[in-house]
Amino acid sequence: MAELKADVLVLGAGMVGVSAALHLQQRGRDVILVDRRELAGEETSFGNAGMIESASVFPYMFPRDFGQILQYAINGSPQVRYQFVDLPSFLPWLVRYYLASSPERALRSAMAELPLIRRSLIEHEALIAEAEVPELLRRTGWIKLFRSDATLANAVRDFERAKQYGVAGELLDGDAIAMREPNLTGEFAGGIHFPAPGFVPDPGGLAKAYAALFKRKGGRFLVGDARTLEQTTGGWRVGGSEGTVVGREIVVALGPWSDLVFGPLGYSIPLGVKRGYHLHLAPRGNAVLNHPVLDSDLGYLLAPMNRGIRLTTGVEFARRDRPPTYIQIEQALPRAQALFPLGDAVDAKPWMGARPCLPDMLPVIGKAPRHAGLWFDFGHQHHGLTLGPATGRLLAEMMTGEAPFADPTPFAVERFG
Ligand SMILES: Cc1cc2nc3c(=O)[nH]c(=O)nc-3n(C[C@H](O)[C@H](O)[C@H](O)COP(=O)(O)OP(=O)(O)OC[C@H]3O[C@@H](n4cnc5c(N)ncnc54)[C@H](O)[C@@H]3O)c2cc1C
Repeated sequence: MAELKADVLVLGAGMVGVSAALHLQQRGRDVILVDRRELAGEETSFGNAGMIESASVFPYMFPRDFGQILQYAINGSPQVRYQFVDLPSFLPWLVRYYLASSPERALRSAMAELPLIRRSLIEHEALIAEAEVPELLRRTGWIKLFRSDATLANAVRDFERAKQYGVAGELLDGDAIAMREPNLTGEFAGGIHFPAPGFVPDPGGLAKAYAALFKRKGGRFLVGDARTLEQTTGGWRVGGSEGTVVGREIVVALGPWSDLVFGPLGYSIPLGVKRGYHLHLAPRGNAVLNHPVLDSDLGYLLAPMNRGIRLTTGVEFARRDRPPTYIQIEQALPRAQALFPLGDAVDAKPWMGARPCLPDMLPVIGKAPRHAGLWFDFGHQHHGLTLGPATGRLLAEMMTGEAPFADPTPFAVERFG
């Protein structure tokens, strides 16, 4: 079989890997993108809620409010669910997540990520223009609804804080909600419309469009299994369906599967997962949903995707590879049906994915300390669609010796000792 050579092999063709490949290519590197799937964007980057979350300056940290913790602990919250049988496997991670969520450390994470969040939409706009897919970016922003005065008041307080970092938004009363979304039904304490974030009505399609751009510019995409990775003299080798693939440098962008590579290489990195589900439903009659709408207190989101209205759930703590449980979808469905006129399901069964998360809710980006030519780019948590292109730029700048646009120190793997 042939041996294919490149400067850099990027393992994983989700939003994160494809974006890194494009940024490396822009800087003159010959890149081969390797994925076990035949197409890009078929996993986590396919199933998300489609929001380019440029308004999300505070990452999703563990709650510090005792009442909320209690609700989480007894599986009484619609936003979070635990698979208790897996508790021994994720409890140590959860403790680290809790510790990393103190107000001081949470603010540190937010400030570290802020330059990336601010860059997120700009980087997507550039790639979307080059890929010639303007229809994949909608400028509606998104709406967060609240059912109780207490949760609305908390959200308004958070919003006031976010405003200090340039986040724009408009408080909505019942009439303003009805103006923006005439087909919603329910009793709301209020809402917030964040107008700036982008909405992608086909996130998997966007990853594919970026991969097509990469190929059009001379990049190669090959099917291969990252688990076959071996270090050679002066580089790295992976087994691919068209032969062995060899690169001087390698980027691990395998999202929730990144441990399959860093584990055998001897790195102990606390990568956990927060699983989530989606199901597409047809709108009934002529009903239209104009924005993604988060029914915050009831713990689900509706997004107007090209395929139908995508109902996405909150977080499920369970082992990555445990078979899906559809409890959160089953709980959310009647609530969503009461909010918006939903008809039949478009999908035969719900989709499940896993948000790749480090306890401090920051990705790992940068050089691996003990192996020449090994780079990490994973752990983009709730914001991998948002941050893929911005972190791709940051990584490519680091790999090519350019001045990085943001301080990469908080993302270094060395923070885990
Ligand atoms: C329900 C839900 C809603 C979300 N909503 C949003 C949102 O609105 N906005 C946002 O910004 N983010 C959102 N996210 C998070 C976002 O989807 C992820 O952070 C992001 O997709 C991670 O991208 P990735 O490229 O790192 O991983 P992935 O997209 O999972 O890509 C990893 C790639 O690695 C490949 N791979 C795995 N194993 C191997 C192997 N052995 N060999 C070769 N290849 C392999 C896979 O095939 C895959 O293509 C959401 C996530 C979920 C689950």
